[in-house]
Amino acid sequence: MKIQPGSFPTDQNQGLIQMQDIVKTYHTTAGDFTALRGVDLSLEQGEFAALIGKSGSGKSTLLNMLTGIDHPTGGQVLVDGKDIYSLTESQRSLWRGRNLGIVFQFFQLLPMLNLMENVMLPMDYVGMYEIDQRPKKALELLELVGLKDQAQHLPRAVSRGQQQSAAIARALATDAPILVADEPTGNLDSRSAGKIIDLFEELSRRGKTILMVTHDPSMTKRASRTIFISDGELVNETIAQSLPLLTHPLMMELSHRVQPLYYQPGATILEQRNRVENFYMIQKGQVEIVLQGRFRDDLVITSLKKNDFFGEISLLKGGKAIASVRASNQGPVELLALPREDFQWLMDQSPLTEEAICRIVQQRLDENQNITRTKKKGLFGRG
Ligand code: ADP
Ligand code: MG
Repeated sequence: MKIQPGSFPTDQNQGLIQMQDIVKTYHTTAGDFTALRGVDLSLEQGEFAALIGKSGSGKSTLLNMLTGIDHPTGGQVLVDGKDIYSLTESQRSLWRGRNLGIVFQFFQLLPMLNLMENVMLPMDYVGMYEIDQRPKKALELLELVGLKDQAQHLPRAVSRGQQQSAAIARALATDAPILVADEPTGNLDSRSAGKIIDLFEELSRRGKTILMVTHDPSMTKRASRTIFISDGELVNETIAQSLPLLTHPLMMELSHRVQPLYYQPGATILEQRNRVENFYMIQKGQVEIVLQGRFRDDLVITSLKKNDFFGEISLLKGGKAIASVRASNQGPVELLALPREDFQWLMDQSPLTEEAICRIVQQRLDENQNITRTKKKGLFGRG
């Protein structure tokens, strides 16, 4: 079968949140500054994603594009299929109140309202709960973040950590399906931070979608997904997952060097004994590794899934494909292909990654040998 990379992914329109090719350029007196350079990001309902990157890399800007507080210069933001920038300013504001809970990096509590009143504000705005129920609901939320006894205090009368916790309670006030939080634990001691992350985990289990900026590696570990941003660009997540030992700058460089390829179910990706031209990472779907010719039927020796890679054995051993690779019949396959020369370059750049890949090569060769040995025995056994 001839290789048939499809031209277009079929399911671009899935995911509760879809940011497509977002560009944000700030116009300042010092000149234009592009803070986001073509960001694509899709989040499914119930995902708990951590967004990490250096200071100034564009994290807050990216969140602002999702909250609709600032306009992108280019690109689209779809939430639940709705283009949020097709709404008028006031429609978007109401939409935001109903659909998003937002924890701002600098809290933005109203200084003349006490903590409980601050938490009630979003309820008032979208008309959530009966008026006489709101104080009770606000108190419950404050209790949830450990501030029951400070409910009547003004923001300036409590610590920064407590202000941050109150901002988190406020973000939960309307029970919105999406929670966007900019370094929500940045001012908390590790125990309080841990409690907030417990809470976020629980909320995501109950179906809320969470996008959280954080610096803290112990927080990212608890998220279901980590997204790296650097100079206004996202690192491809398949690269980050497939080759976790790379430095972030190398991950970013690779994000520029890979090509996406799409295959229909059952399509052949690599032909056994042909020269291998790429290192392949699986972005979506499953592939089967197939040995041809030595047995009556093709022998499927293993299948690989999202974030696995293949092609490395031939590239490292300088030879041809020792097996065929085909898209499984279950569904289409999306790959990232890194050209042979770029793969060699990468191995030179990251000895740790080379070592890890070599270990996997050895493991795979051993496994293949075991499988073919067992299969041969089986054949002879049956006579
Ligand atoms: P992060 O949250 O990752 O620290 P930001 O998104 O706040 O980064 O900022 C990204 C870049 O955009 C920074 O270089 C910052 O100086 C610049 N920037 C952010 N907001 C503005 C603005 N309103 N006007 C001009 N430049 C801005
Ligand atoms: Mg920021």
